[in-house]
Amino acid sequence: MTTAAVTTNAGPDAARPVNLIGLPRAALEQFFAELGERPFRAVQVMKWLHHRGADDFASMTDLSRVLRARLEEMAVVAMPEVMTENVSTDGTRKWLMGLDDGQRIEVVFIPEKDRGTLCISSQVGCALDCSFCATGKQGFNRNLTTAEIVGQVRQASRRLQGVVTDRDRAITNIVLMGMGEPLLNFDAVLPAIDILLDDLGYGISKRRLTLSTAGVVPAILRLAEVTDVALAISLHAPDDTLRDQLVPINRRYPIAELLDAVRTYLGKLGDWRSVTIEYTLMDGVNDSLEQAEALANLLTDLRERSKINLIPFNPFPGSGYRRPSEARVRAFQTHLLERGFATMLRTTRGEDIDAACGQLAGNFEDRTRRRERYIARLKDHGVITHQTV
Ligand code: SF4
Repeated sequence: MTTAAVTTNAGPDAARPVNLIGLPRAALEQFFAELGERPFRAVQVMKWLHHRGADDFASMTDLSRVLRARLEEMAVVAMPEVMTENVSTDGTRKWLMGLDDGQRIEVVFIPEKDRGTLCISSQVGCALDCSFCATGKQGFNRNLTTAEIVGQVRQASRRLQGVVTDRDRAITNIVLMGMGEPLLNFDAVLPAIDILLDDLGYGISKRRLTLSTAGVVPAILRLAEVTDVALAISLHAPDDTLRDQLVPINRRYPIAELLDAVRTYLGKLGDWRSVTIEYTLMDGVNDSLEQAEALANLLTDLRERSKINLIPFNPFPGSGYRRPSEARVRAFQTHLLERGFATMLRTTRGEDIDAACGQLAGNFEDRTRRRERYIARLKDHGVITHQTV
């Protein structure tokens, strides 16, 4: 395979051949137009890539032999590799996926009776450093490319083949809620959304594709101009003082500005659509009845246009936070219900497999660092002179 300089969908190394799974339909049509091919080639190739799961051009038998040979030279089909797969007793699956440059990301599949939700990552690590988040503790490493974002769905679909048998397809819902802040990787996330929504891609309905943000206000406004997928806001606190501590980006875009952006976004959606408010409950931090009341007051004008998701905190080593008692969680929920808010209690899934975002990659990092320290110690003591372990 040559390294022809096709720069569309540029990733960490723009000189690499273009990865076709990261091209939305319009870009793929453009790609073929530049090769002197007709636009329907894009339709053919998208079906091969996303519906039939073809991994090479040789198998795309409805393309001419000459075109297949050209594609071999200037393009690739590549997706993240599964490094580990953990399956919870409740059916939740979590994969640690490896990228070309050795980085690792997490992808989680949560099966429910009537749906299968895939939680995907948009960045390696995250710069926003929310105080209760395992991913935030790893810091930011890099943005994912469009192909790496779509590739998670492609890889997960493959791993789930034959696993869920009572629905047409295992993945019915996708949430951009894994590692990273999707709106800080806007230019890669948006084409990925395009591919996930496209019938030639994954055919996910816009109501079933949710982008979750910690509150990058200018990007929410920009998003409102270009798409109408579902939006979730990681709020986690009813006032700026607390939210400044839990979600530090609040210091830049405080709650009032954030909710204004949410209203703008809702203004672009149909009247019947709502925004999801994510609220992770942490014992003694944000789970009092006074805080439930403050949250209800804060969201009063959004009551008919919002759903509140309460998520009891899933502790991880070194997090410094505890999960509230069941009674406190129920009391918080009841208060919001009494105030007229659609309030769901998200049951914690996959606890036995570290399913909280960032935990798996964090553990992997820890193990890798432990191993490196171990090797360094051996070298210090003259046990080994070069890396033989
Ligand atoms: S909660 Fe989301 S935005 Fe905050 S640090 Fe974690 S991944 Fe980043």
